[in-house]
This record gives sequence, C-alpha cells and structure tokens, in this order.
Amino acid sequence: MAGHLRDKFDLAVVGAGILGLSCALAAARRELKVVVIERDPRARGASVRNFGFITVTGQDREGVWSRARRSRDVWEEVAGRAGIPIVQRGQWVAAQRPESAAVLEAFMRTDMAEGCELITPATAQYRCPNLRTSGLQAVLCSPHELRVESRDAIPMLADWLASDYGVRFCWQTAAHSVAPPKLETSRGLIVADTAVVCPGDDLVTLFPDYLAGAGIGRCALQMLRLESPGFELPGTVMSDLSLIRYGGFSSLPEASLLRRQLEAEQSEFLRNGIHLIVAQGSDGSLVVGDSHHYDFTDEALATERIYELLLQEYAAVVGHPPPAVRQRWTGTYAVANNRVVLIEAPVPEVRLVVVTSGIGASTGFAIGEEVIGELFN
Ligand SMILES: Cc1cc2nc3c(=O)[nH]c(=O)nc-3n(C[C@H](O)[C@H](O)[C@H](O)COP(=O)(O)OP(=O)(O)OC[C@H]3O[C@@H](n4cnc5c(N)ncnc54)[C@H](O)[C@@H]3O)c2cc1C
Repeated sequence: MAGHLRDKFDLAVVGAGILGLSCALAAARRELKVVVIERDPRARGASVRNFGFITVTGQDREGVWSRARRSRDVWEEVAGRAGIPIVQRGQWVAAQRPESAAVLEAFMRTDMAEGCELITPATAQYRCPNLRTSGLQAVLCSPHELRVESRDAIPMLADWLASDYGVRFCWQTAAHSVAPPKLETSRGLIVADTAVVCPGDDLVTLFPDYLAGAGIGRCALQMLRLESPGFELPGTVMSDLSLIRYGGFSSLPEASLLRRQLEAEQSEFLRNGIHLIVAQGSDGSLVVGDSHHYDFTDEALATERIYELLLQEYAAVVGHPPPAVRQRWTGTYAVANNRVVLIEAPVPEVRLVVVTSGIGASTGFAIGEEVIGELFN
C-alpha cells in the first residue's frame, strides 16, 4: 500500500466492479498509469451477483443495443486473453402465448433481429429434446449472447489487468473524497491527475448531491442457483415475462396486448418485477432469477414467495420440475427512470459513471471506452 501512495497516477478509478474495471482497461490500453481503489477485498457488488449474461438481442435500441454489441466483442477478446471461460453462448426466448409469439414475429421484422431465427416448437424440440416445448408457440434463437460466471470472471479480469497492464489495485481501501490530483482514502492520500468514480449503488459516499439530483435510486433482486438438470440448455432461456422488460421487445406495439394478458394471468409476477432468465454454468448448474423491488427498506431479507414464483415460471417454461436449490442470494443496483447510464463531470478532471438500468455486465466495456475516450481526448 505504501508504494501506491508514493506513486503518481494518470487515472484513479474508484470501484472494482465491471464499470471500474472497464474504465481501467480502456485507460491501460492507452498506456496510462492506472490505480483502482476498492473498499472490499474483492468486488462484491452487483458485478459478481448477476447472471454474467452479456445480453444483446432484445436490448433497448436507445443507448443499449450498440453498446451491448461492442461490449460482447470486448468480452470475447478479453476472455480469451485473460483465460476467462465463456460458459454459455446464445439465447432462447420461449413464447408461451400467441401474444408473445406476435411480439417475436414483430421483432424479427426489425434490423435488430439480424442473425436471429424464429423456430417452431417442433424444431426447438428437435434441437433440444430435453426442453419440453409442447406448451410453447415459438422460440426466438439469438446467437449473439455470451455468458461468464461473474464471481470467477470479475476477479480474473482484475488479476489480468494487474499482471498484463500493470494496473495497481488498492483493495480494502475506501475513497472518502475525490478532487484530483488528491484522493483521500481510508489508507491515506492517492495522487492522480484524473479520476473516474464507478460506485455502483453506493449513492451516499461520493458526489451524493449529483446522484440525488439525477433521481438515482436502488433496486433489489433475488437470485437462485439450482443443481444441474442433467442436460445442456441450448442457450440462456427467457420467457414471456422478459418480453415486457427488455426495451427492444417491450417498445414494439404488439407488446401492449401481451402486457394486458400478463396483467390478467401473472399479476403477482408483475407486482414483484419477476421475469425469468435461466443461465447455465460449466458444471451444468443453473442461475435462475430474477425479481425487482424498487421501494425497499431491507434488501438483505429475501422473501421465500419470490423464490416460489421463480421456480414456478422455470417449471412452466422448461417443462420439468426444478432441480434442488444450491444457493440463494440478493443483489442491488442503481436505477433511474429517465436514463440507462449516468455519465457526469462534477469537475473537469472527474467522471462519475453509474449504470442505472441493470445492464452493466452487457454494456460496461463500451461505456468504459466512451468515458476514457472523452476524458483523455
Ligand atoms: C441480481 C442481478 C442480476 C443482474 N443481471 C444482469 C445481467 O444479466 N446482465 C447485465 O448486463 N447486467 C445485469 N445486472 C446489472 C449489473 O450487474 C450491474 O449493472 C453492474 O454490475 C454494475 O457494475 P458497477 O461496477 O457499476 O457496480 P458494482 O458491481 O456495484 O461495483 C461498484 C464497486 O464500487 C465499490 N465502491 C463504491 N464506493 C466506493 C468508495 N467510496 N470507495 C471504494 N470503493 C467503492 C463497491 O465496493 C463495489 O465493489 C444484474 C445485477 C444484479 C444485482
């Protein structure tokens, strides 16, 4: 630590989640001298609690889709170099109702469907015999997605930045104030010409007035890991509920009819912000989620009823009873109504970067390149 304090850096990054690491990578590739300051011994926030699902198809056209495509390409490249396994590829969106099949058909007529196919239940059954597709109307297959096991991938990314780019990490160090060239931390002063603050959903420590003024709040989610079902999924699986959450689908006119149908048939799911993502790991285990609560007082307390609903939706889509639950956890991230990401300059040498739409794993690398490009050009 003493060594860090003596050095002078071109850039200090606060936060070692995916956003902070993305900014560190973009800066290190410009041969800048970078230090990352993280209060925990390893990243422990949203970046390691998520699905590790780099989602492209279905993302909002505005501000997300192109960033997701760029980030997917960077993940592909970086995973190879850093030895991070890509544990799953592609996405299957299973339409359970005629109304959701209509949304998928409309999506296929857009340019965002490039590379995707809409297949019949019979074709889906042929390609993945273990998925019971008899109750389905159609399946959208997208080849664009990647999945990493975040809890392994994020520490590996940090280690690779340190070993291959010489990025310095100050773990277990909280940044108390950021005013380049001085950053006050719990372990003393760090000197850097510029800083990028990527605090995730810590809305109170650094620049709280900016974050409050931008109307940023927090969202709590519940997640599960199930034992392997004994077969390989053809990609990450989503259901009808996802079609009214992801902007690339939900903005289509056909989605209003589906929304009304879901309000009538699955209102408890909607009240709890539930949609289904089933992602598979290299050991066959399944990460299943999630729910969204925006008005909460104690995100640490998971509600069992939410898990019951998630498992019910799993059984309806996959067509098998869910395997045993291995783990349950909660996560939180920053949210705002009117933007997908906040990029602010509280002072000319500092950028404050907060993803406010739960898509940081899918867009972080692209946002990092934009932020560093703008700050250093
Ligand atoms: C359950 C769940 C599922 C999700 N699923 C997906 C998905 O499928 N696809 C997708 O794209 N996204 C998903 N997301 C969203 C995604 O995980 C987040 O958008 C992303 O991880 C945010 O990254 P971050 O680096 O901004 O924040 P974080 O990961 O929260 O990292 C912020 C870091 O900053 C540190 N920090 C904060 N303040 C200070 C300080 N003052 N000093 C030192 N350190 C500080 C914190 O300790 C933390 O480690 C999901 C999120 C959750 C919770």
